[in-house]
Amino acid sequence: MIVPFLDLSEVHKKIRSELDLAIANVINSGQFIQAEQVAAFEDEWRTFCGANYAIGVSNGLDALKLCCLALGIGNGDEVIVPSNTFIATLLAVSAVGARPVPVSPDPLTYNLDPRKIEEKISSKTKAIIAVHLYGQPADLKMISEIASRHSLFVIEDAAQAHGARINGARIGASSDVVAWSFYPGKNLGALGDAGAVTTNNEYLANKIILLRNYGSVERYKHEIQGYNCRLDELQASVLRVKLKYLEEWNSIRSKCANYYINNLSGIACVNNDLEFDADKIVLPYLMDNVRSSWHLFVIRLRERDALMKYLRSKSIECLIHYPVPAFRQLAFRGENTLEAVEVSDILSGQILSLPIGPHMNLDMVEKVCHEILCFMGNIHAKS
Ligand SMILES: *Cc1c(COP(=O)(O)O)cnc(C)c1O
Repeated sequence: MIVPFLDLSEVHKKIRSELDLAIANVINSGQFIQAEQVAAFEDEWRTFCGANYAIGVSNGLDALKLCCLALGIGNGDEVIVPSNTFIATLLAVSAVGARPVPVSPDPLTYNLDPRKIEEKISSKTKAIIAVHLYGQPADLKMISEIASRHSLFVIEDAAQAHGARINGARIGASSDVVAWSFYPGKNLGALGDAGAVTTNNEYLANKIILLRNYGSVERYKHEIQGYNCRLDELQASVLRVKLKYLEEWNSIRSKCANYYINNLSGIACVNNDLEFDADKIVLPYLMDNVRSSWHLFVIRLRERDALMKYLRSKSIECLIHYPVPAFRQLAFRGENTLEAVEVSDILSGQILSLPIGPHMNLDMVEKVCHEILCFMGNIHAKS
């Protein structure tokens, strides 16, 4: 039995006739840009998130970029970002001419460590981007408190957090602006690139509506110098079909996560240590007031590379998110202002993302647990 990390063809098989119909309807309508499907999806996504406004855009990076632009972030400004995120979070900041300032994650949650934010705030800082990494909501309460103390904006990068909750409320409506990606592999994914911004702020919503479409809401009338960052009708129609299944798919993810946790807890150490025994693993930490979207199920262990190789030999596909912290990438060479070794450097050598997603069944999760226990048992026997 092969256990793929994610198998979208398997997921789409079950809803294929609905997808075919949606796509055919768009083709028959002859409307491909910003028409009925985009408007309907925006309304459905806004409702799902509990936000006043949703604006469909081209992808997650553009969503983040438009958030920065709408907030007036640009040349000479600084924006606080987590040091362990997908590079898009940083690229959105540099794309508008500002400088991303990386802050270490909390080794317990892997999210931005609120205790380390203030030392990175300068007179140039304009905003904090909170990433809900792996689907676990960041500490928005603390981050918002720090932001308001220093008059900073809060942008959420929710590209991995579709349907995640804080105190029962879904992510998407609590900070200034929230950026979404519907890249195919996300919890809600299009059949291509797509994204959105949600907000409760009418001014920001209108600004983003202009920015995404050549600075125009009325044809041939251009109020500002905008961009082309539109969501298209085909992707919107696909997202409308898939949104109906999001909660069901998230609950399969959550079942996988619970199974992993229950079956691997015997070899787990319950802590946020960066150093631990070779025969132990660190399981995801569950905060009690939040619900993760379980975009990724990330464990940590010293023998990460060896386990990954072993699992691959057993036809189990694992990935690393991310093997090199974004701020250490060549793209940001020369701008690195961090200490030599930082929490995310240590994490990137230990983390391993196990298969999780709506394609998984019980046999697959069982097999992954069984093989991990075999591998770790051998380490234990040797030591
Ligand atoms: C996927 C992702 C993005 C970028 O989304 P795209 O649609 O690929 O541009 C941004 N931030 C995070 C945390 C992501 O996981």
